[in-house]
Amino acid sequence: MCDATSAPGGRYSAFTLANIHRAPQWSLLTTEQQEAVRVVGRILPFRTNSYVMDELIDWSQVPHDPIYQLTFPQPGMIGATDYRKVAELLRKDAGPEHLAEVVNDIRLRLNPHPAGQLTHNVPQLNGRPLAGMQHKYRETVLFFPAAGQTCHAYCTYCFRWAQFVGLPEIKFEARETDDLVAYLLAHPEVSDLLVTGGDPMIMRASVLRRYLEPLLNPKLEHLTNIRIGSKSLTYWPTRYLTDPDAASILHLFEELIAAGKHLTFMAHFSHPAELQTSTLERAVRNIRATGAEIRTQAPLVRHINDQAETWRDKWRREVSLGLIPYYMFVERDTGPKRYFEVPLFRAQQIFKEAYAQVSGLARTVRGPSMSALPGKVRVVGVSEVRGERIFVLEFLQARDPDWVGQPFFARYDQQAVWLNQLKPAFGADRFFYQQAPAKMLA
Ligand SMILES: *Cc1c(COP(=O)(O)O)cnc(C)c1O
Ligand code: SF4
Repeated sequence: MCDATSAPGGRYSAFTLANIHRAPQWSLLTTEQQEAVRVVGRILPFRTNSYVMDELIDWSQVPHDPIYQLTFPQPGMIGATDYRKVAELLRKDAGPEHLAEVVNDIRLRLNPHPAGQLTHNVPQLNGRPLAGMQHKYRETVLFFPAAGQTCHAYCTYCFRWAQFVGLPEIKFEARETDDLVAYLLAHPEVSDLLVTGGDPMIMRASVLRRYLEPLLNPKLEHLTNIRIGSKSLTYWPTRYLTDPDAASILHLFEELIAAGKHLTFMAHFSHPAELQTSTLERAVRNIRATGAEIRTQAPLVRHINDQAETWRDKWRREVSLGLIPYYMFVERDTGPKRYFEVPLFRAQQIFKEAYAQVSGLARTVRGPSMSALPGKVRVVGVSEVRGERIFVLEFLQARDPDWVGQPFFARYDQQAVWLNQLKPAFGADRFFYQQAPAKMLA
């Protein structure tokens, strides 16, 4: 894992468990809060930096401050028994081997690989699996460049937490860019490439260029849209301002656009507090000046953004900055999900209330959406048909494109937090898409 010196040359300092006690704000935390960081930070990834700590967190509101909840491990993120066990081992200064064993056992119980991440959607080229890529929806290939599999800071709710603590996740091969280009050449149905991670913007401009330049191959005309998924506008905005290679990054964006590609920067913003600094405003302006679009997405999570006003303010602020609200996700079924989960009925209420209070320019957003095995399922609303209370659902994306845009119905359930807990409405024994299991797994 990299530290401040291997981050892309900016002026912020990075903090991990090893040096967080040297951060000026550390002494503002209570002993219990410090212990929680040390205990939970052993199990789940922890990494923050001086921009987040100095400019985004309001320390007078800690521990409730949303950005503190976003980057600092919280005591409730793991079960009480596991917490006590690890706290006790740390207090007794237990040997590293014993500690690692206990920690690993806890990690494996946290569903590290949700929705078939490791086994499904891995594309093949001439019979060889291409690790580092996923191709689930016809038009879009996900690409995980090896050099972009970390982040400037870690979100406490991260659904890719397993890869940051060293559990096996996505593996990479040496010739990954060649493989990507070969795969895209063989798949004319693919119009979109989504470069993701971790955070691809952790890469230096020269490394990012090595991945993106080959996409300008004239035989890849069918690849019209390139997206880069990133939280760097929150965690390291000088990436587009004063980092030594900021100008090269912006120039690369301009080149891709000049070559005729649509470039969308998929920015992850969890809370309006991330959108207030002048540094952020200037970074947004620089990216937009290249001709790139910025679309925004985030999961809805308890303790951080489970209020309609938060989303309303976030979407309003985004639109005022020229950003395009895109997705509200349901928190994935992995890691510390218990701490962050919001029931589906409540998620839909929050979405609806916020959506009702913004102008049409912000109603480009879609959600709440679950990235589940069969596809991205949106909870459209709650309704009642002949006395039965139901959830109306739809696929925003599906393994089988025919499933998209066809409403389907589940029994209303006040507790359900994920698709697999829903039962079909009207006495049906399965959902319409479950009638084709062979096709689904093909
Ligand atoms: C969300 C997602 C995409 C992109 O879907 P869009 O509807 O085009 O935004 C692509 N692949 C996977 C696996 C996804 O989860
Ligand atoms: S930016 Fe994304 S990948 Fe990185 S820690 Fe946050 S949720 Fe995880």
